[in-house]
Order: sequence, then structure tokens, then C-alpha cells
Amino acid sequence: MAGRNVLVTGGNRGIGLSIARDLLEAGHSVVVTHRSGEPPEGLQGVRCEVTDSASVDRAFTEAEELLGGPVDVLVANAGITRDQLLMRMSDEEFDSVVDTNLAGAFRCARRASKGMIRLRRGRIIFISSVVGLYGSPGQTNYAASKSGLVGLARSISRELGGRGITANVVAPGFIETDMTEVLPEDRKKAYQASIPAGRFGRTEEVAAAVRFLASDEAGYITGAVLPVDGGLGMGH
Ligand code: NDP
Repeated sequence: MAGRNVLVTGGNRGIGLSIARDLLEAGHSVVVTHRSGEPPEGLQGVRCEVTDSASVDRAFTEAEELLGGPVDVLVANAGITRDQLLMRMSDEEFDSVVDTNLAGAFRCARRASKGMIRLRRGRIIFISSVVGLYGSPGQTNYAASKSGLVGLARSISRELGGRGITANVVAPGFIETDMTEVLPEDRKKAYQASIPAGRFGRTEEVAAAVRFLASDEAGYITGAVLPVDGGLGMGH
């Protein structure tokens, strides 16, 4: 397969970093977005704040310069949690999560679509979560943002499917990263007991699913939700 031009948002750590490293190793040209500091070793980076359309536009323009052409694989991975029980959740807690996880992914997909439509080829991969379809107490904001990505991907599939562009969702379960590191031990144990695979996942296991959806071979898969969750969300 020809090497593609890849942009991974939030690719400076966690799942995004694994995805970026994996795709680079697979022979693609990869740029990651980061908000502060330097890009991770061995990777090209551009600054991007996904809640800001102008920043997204700038980041794509800079990435296209580094890549020498339009982005033809977008991995919209940047995301946050702000957990709180429904009755105590502030507007700000709800809005900031939806603005980052859902509207941020929309802003990136919208910008990416310009180049992809011209190329008549593209892969848009949204990193959602098992929680999007399974639900989770204390995560109404996060779950709403992550299930919204399914509607986003499926509408893009219908809108741009005829132009060689696919849009899919990867729904990881509990993956060992900074995001899950902060969970209390007793909650981690309880979660683990409910996962058919009996363990948390590794970032590399999410990256492998993304690599497949980004490939030429996955050209007839669009609007799909691919779980990488050890069976936790089965049936959802
Ligand atoms: P991390 O918290 O380790 O990394 C999150 C990344 O998103 C960082 O690179 C962060 O940048 C970036 N980011 C956050 N907000 C913004 C923003 N406003 N603009 C630009 N970049 C931003 O998370 P994970 O690696 O664990 O998660 C990656 C994705 O996978 C997320 O979408 C998450 O919801 C999803 N996911 C994670 C699971 C898990 O178990 N870990 C399970 C299911 C889904 P910075 O370093 O600057 O903060």
C-alpha cells in the first residue's frame, strides 16, 4: 500500500501516540498535533487546540506543508473527561467535554474533507469509547460526546462515501493510559471483573485497529463502530 499522509490529533501521548508510532512504522507519513511543549521524539508535530476552528485550520495547513500534500488519513483522537454526577454537573463541565470530543472531531473532519474531496480518497477515524453506546454513571457528558461521533461518522459516510472517503469509529474499552491511571484502585478492580478478556487493553491494540481502518483494504468499511474493548460492550 502507498504511504498515506496522516494527521493524528492529541498524538503526543497515550493512545494517540501509539497510533502515530504504529502508522509511521507501517510506512505512512505522520504528523501529530500537540498543545504544548515539543512533539514526541521521532515524530513531526504541529500545535493545535481542537476547540478553536482557526487553530485547527492552521494546524492542517502546517501539517500539509510538512507532509507535502493534503491529509488523507485523519485520526480524531484528542479527548478529555470531566466526570460528575448528572445533578451536580455544571454547564461548563458538559460543554467543555462536548466541545473537545465531539465538536473538536467535527472541526477536524470538516477541514480534512476539503483535501480528501479533491483527492477523491480519504480515511476519517474517530476515537470514541465503549462508554458511548454502553453508558457510564458520572459520564453523561463524555458518553454523549462519544456516541455523537457515531452519528457524525455515519452522516459523513452517506455524504462522502461516493468520493472514496470512509468514516469509521473505533471504540476502545479501558486502556492503560494517563486517562485511566487516575481511577481509584477499587473502581479499576470492579471494571476489570466486568471485562470478558479479564484485563485492561493496551494502546498498541487500539493502534492496530486504526491501522486496519486506515488501509486501502478497508475501503468498503464505512460507518462502522469497531470495538477494542475485551468484549465489555458486546451487543451495544
Ligand atoms: P490522554 O489523556 O492520555 O491524552 C489525550 C490527548 O488529547 C492528549 O494528547 C491531549 O493533549 C489531547 N487533547 C485534549 N484536549 C485537547 C484539545 N482541546 N485540543 C487538542 N488536543 C487535546 O488520553 P488517552 O490517550 O487515554 O485517550 C485518547 C482518546 O481515546 C480520547 O479521545 C479518549 O476519550 C479515548 N478513549 C480512551 C480510553 C482509555 O481507556 N484511555 C478508553 C476509550 C476511549 P495534551 O497532552 O496537550 O493534554
